[in-house]
Amino acid sequence: AFLFLSCWVATGKTDHLKYKDPKQPLNTRINDLLSRMTLAEKIGQMAQIATANATAEVIAGNFVGSVLSGGGGVPAPKASVEVWVNMVNEMQKGALSTRLGIPIIYGIDAVHGHNSVYNATIFPHNVGLGATRDPSLVKRIGAATALEVRATGIPYVFAPCVAVCRDPRWGRCFESYSEDTKVVEMMTEIIPGLQGDIPMTSSKGVPFVSGKKKVAACAKHFVGDGGTHLGINENNTIVNFHDLLSIHMPPYYHAIIKGVSTVMISFSSWNGIKMHQNRYLITDFLKNKLRFRGFVISDWQGIDKITTPPHANYTYSILSGILAGIDMVMIPFDYPEFIEDLTFLVNQNFIPMSRINDAVRRILRVKFTVGLFENPFADYSLAAEVGKREHRELAREAVRKSLVLLKNGKTGKNPLLPLPKNAKKILVAGSHAHNLGYQCGGWTIEWQGLGGNNLTIGTTLLDAIMTTVEPNTEVVYFENPDAYSLNNSEFAYAIVAVGEQPYAESFGDNLNLTIPAPGPSTIQNVCSSVKCVVVLISGRPLVIEPYIEQIDAMVAAWLPGTEGQGITDVLFGDYGFSGKLSRTWFRSVDQLPMNVGDPHYDPLYPFGFGLTTEPSRTS
Ligand code: BGC
Repeated sequence: AFLFLSCWVATGKTDHLKYKDPKQPLNTRINDLLSRMTLAEKIGQMAQIATANATAEVIAGNFVGSVLSGGGGVPAPKASVEVWVNMVNEMQKGALSTRLGIPIIYGIDAVHGHNSVYNATIFPHNVGLGATRDPSLVKRIGAATALEVRATGIPYVFAPCVAVCRDPRWGRCFESYSEDTKVVEMMTEIIPGLQGDIPMTSSKGVPFVSGKKKVAACAKHFVGDGGTHLGINENNTIVNFHDLLSIHMPPYYHAIIKGVSTVMISFSSWNGIKMHQNRYLITDFLKNKLRFRGFVISDWQGIDKITTPPHANYTYSILSGILAGIDMVMIPFDYPEFIEDLTFLVNQNFIPMSRINDAVRRILRVKFTVGLFENPFADYSLAAEVGKREHRELAREAVRKSLVLLKNGKTGKNPLLPLPKNAKKILVAGSHAHNLGYQCGGWTIEWQGLGGNNLTIGTTLLDAIMTTVEPNTEVVYFENPDAYSLNNSEFAYAIVAVGEQPYAESFGDNLNLTIPAPGPSTIQNVCSSVKCVVVLISGRPLVIEPYIEQIDAMVAAWLPGTEGQGITDVLFGDYGFSGKLSRTWFRSVDQLPMNVGDPHYDPLYPFGFGLTTEPSRTS
């Protein structure tokens, strides 16, 4: 026994454990580590489990490669930065206690800032960012988000969503920058913001993350998620190959050139085949033709959903998903079954070892490029980054630039905006005027988002109005005004904020796209008696044609996030309106799907529309 032990130690020494040596070339490190791994260790790397299950023991005992926080709520809605850092570090200790000490990579949905974390800066959702047409702004947002995410000990985000949403009935349309491929391409500039600028010397397709203040990104959901039939989430995308390549694929090409570390597969199908089992698109196209060298991750139980009903034949699903080219599998709960089945499939030669090695190689490549082997643990040194003033200023700038002015003045003349700050008495009204949760939308603290002002720190539109108008201006606020209470009240003007309530994924699918109650009656009651600007807070265009005549000025504010002052900056003329529609504004849902370039294009406001105003010096 003694002799054997000394031999083993000696072997270790002569090898210098190359994979642990940062001076070795990347591929040398990967190959060295891979050559030391058992099948169990390799399969463990391919598993991504939910935070709730991820004790240090479970991670170590199963060689788990990754943990995710899906949809928020974990560790706790108002957890401090320290709680997050400690949580991730505890998991990391489990991973590092194993024979080879391969660190986990912890991933989270930071889709509009670090949206699961209390006090983080919440940026506008992508639909609003698309309206800015400003890639350098989006890059700065990526950098700010990366800092806030890293501050909580997390090195990996499931963002950006590069869906080209072709149908606003889709409940995830707000996660898409635009219906137009070119705008989405432009916005992949968030990737160098998140990950760092890719060096000129880097070869195409190789993931790149530039240090401890950056995070690995994830382009999602590959591919065609925004093209499903009737805009139904996870549905079938029926397009020919040419349209798939020209409408939905180009953002991936741009993401890969910018060194994106990972790509997430879509729940949707393409012409009847689940994307999670599409070997042609994942392996032949994404990996071989586009030369993507990072790892491909499944969506949440995405492999289960290969069959209908989900999980009906899990072994088959694993076989078909892994053979299609999925490298890391998001299996929040059923990892023991996954590990057992995949082990069986490899041992029986249904899945060749070369496929497993390809998957693990890609996962290790990302872990090395993120620097996890050198810096597996987080500290609190970045704690002050979360929600810091500069980030909130940046979010405020993004809000300003994302607002689209649809109408200004009843006849096109007599513009109502910019509003004077020194009116004697003004009215603020509507369900969305003083509700931070509504402003932020889905994917904020909770998966589905929440209503109310307590969910995190921020400024509502009403708060912002109060600090913008002159001290002598009387501001009257009615959440839900009736016409009677407004009679003869001598308001100089009214600011009315109505819109959608938060939702995420399938919960947001909507075939009507009407303004939810009490929005229409609020508009009716206020705008029939007071000059009004309506600020619509929504993840997509809604049917406004029936009301638009009555409204003096109309602003699409999308889902602006925590910095409500961005809206008042522009309403009151400190800045001009500059946003351009990233989506076609339809008249009625009968026109859907309708996109720029359609033969019967007759929208209320076309793609790219947006009135401008000059900043007013007098107000
Ligand atoms: C969503 C993804 C998300 C994942 C993890 C899924 O349901 O489709 O966009 O990244 O959950 O939360």
